[in-house]
Amino acid sequence: MNNIQSIRGMHDILPTETPTWRWLELQLSELLDGYDFREIRIPLVEKAELFTRAIGQGTDVVEKEMYAFADRNGDLLSLRPEGTAGVVRAAIQHGLLTTPGLKVWYRGPMFRHERPQRGRQRQFHQFGAEVFGLAGADADAELIALGERMWRRLGLAERIRLEINSLGDRDDRQRYRKRLLEYLRPRIDQLDEDSQRRLETNPLRIFDSKHPATRAIMAQAPLLADALGDEARAHFESVCALLDGLGIRYRINPALVRGLDYYCRTVFEWVTDDLGAQGTVCAGGRYDDLVSIQGGRATPGIGFALGMERLVDLIESLGTEHPGGAQVYLVCQADPVEALGLAEFLRDHLPGLRLACNLGGGSFKAQFKRADRSGAAYALVLGEEEVQQGRCQIKDLRGDQPQQSLAREELPARLARLLPDLAPA
Ligand code: ATP
Ligand code: MG
Repeated sequence: MNNIQSIRGMHDILPTETPTWRWLELQLSELLDGYDFREIRIPLVEKAELFTRAIGQGTDVVEKEMYAFADRNGDLLSLRPEGTAGVVRAAIQHGLLTTPGLKVWYRGPMFRHERPQRGRQRQFHQFGAEVFGLAGADADAELIALGERMWRRLGLAERIRLEINSLGDRDDRQRYRKRLLEYLRPRIDQLDEDSQRRLETNPLRIFDSKHPATRAIMAQAPLLADALGDEARAHFESVCALLDGLGIRYRINPALVRGLDYYCRTVFEWVTDDLGAQGTVCAGGRYDDLVSIQGGRATPGIGFALGMERLVDLIESLGTEHPGGAQVYLVCQADPVEALGLAEFLRDHLPGLRLACNLGGGSFKAQFKRADRSGAAYALVLGEEEVQQGRCQIKDLRGDQPQQSLAREELPARLARLLPDLAPA
């Protein structure tokens, strides 16, 4: 019988890869804590209607990419393609929006049925943050400052740049849409097929086309930036002024439109040139109408989501390693209770230690082979003699420090000194 394989575009994250993921998740969650965010955990499955209403009928995500299905009761459900709609649902449902300034983050898998390629999976992972009840430009600026600090913390500051734009308010976009259609309709024959279809459903998205002829047309198109109302323009200018004041560099990209209908005013993307075609690692913006679209009391919102796979890819392409696996391997040629006992003693004293205790016996030679393969930096060696004397040998597996015999009580402090990220309990 054939082995059953995973679904196309849905990947296993293997034990060799998870250390980088965990490191990244730790950095991100600590950083968000530092900006007074709290974690929220929401279901992977929601009513399909939640996403069609929030994200918009004419968007790629809903029209082409969403996993929607009828469950056994005939209810139309969807695997979440993104996190914001679910966070907004939860915030309304649990009355979290009554005090302004709710800040939450989430993380986890998202599902979109698109063509798998580098930087594009069908199950991928996002880390996202949302801020509610704050309409002012300071909230936008803080969220962007957080992003910048994130790249610095991850060692990616040189690799990632910021692009921003304003989508204006709903009336601005409606007015602009008319103007854009007037420009595009006479040129419809020169647009690619996808863009021709979008002309009636979502003409702003034509700016996203990769088609050269279409791009040439769009390069001459009227710009949303020139159609902004006074309020949206003032808001955007304040955001830019705050970013200038904070010394955050950005490029205003008038063609940045974002793929989901709920965005308004500030939108932004953090982009890298190091990942090929899928270079947007993080994207976000304001969604002041979304809470009311979902039936809550009108509450402004702003947030972002970053693609974990793309970030991990970027971190790995820089050759940064986040080792996992054992630091110390305990080799034993005595009653197993001695090895297990010593291992527990060490774990009592060094809770952060990654310790592998040789299981299944074997000759010293076989055990040292396993110790070497484990990647551990040091081996502890316990023979009959050591057991009798209450001592243990410590052997440097990677360098040339001489093997040493230590009393059992001395071991925790010695290991803490040898392994710099370990502190004794
Ligand atoms: P793209 O233009 O790359 O399709 P998007 O506008 O659809 O992105 P968002 O919905 O804003 O993406 O999602 C935020 C981030 O999540 C993206 O910037 C990207 O890093 C990541 N992302 C989106 N779709 C995928 C996917 N299919 N596979 C991997 N990462 C993804
Ligand atoms: Mg997309």
